[in-house]
Amino acid sequence: MAKTNLCQSCGMPLKGANDFGTEKDGTPSEKFCHHCYQNGEWVEKDVSFDEFYAHSLKRFQDSDMNKIEKFFLNKMYTKKFLKKLERWS
Ligand SMILES: [Zn+2]
Repeated sequence: MAKTNLCQSCGMPLKGANDFGTEKDGTPSEKFCHHCYQNGEWVEKDVSFDEFYAHSLKRFQDSDMNKIEKFFLNKMYTKKFLKKLERWS
């Protein structure tokens, strides 16, 4: 089963080693990206679901995606999608 891992907090695809967050002992997290999870803790600990969704959407929109990627992002990156991830379900 070859499947792209998504960060189970924000939904970002985890591709390169730099995308992964870190556990307390410095090993890479298998589930979360470095925007969400560092040293075994959430980067934004007390954030509400709605705030987190807004932040993440903005972060993706500000990244260097092309127009077509952004079009799909806006269609797919919904609250419903985010709710399915482990952190929010
Ligand atoms: Zn993330």
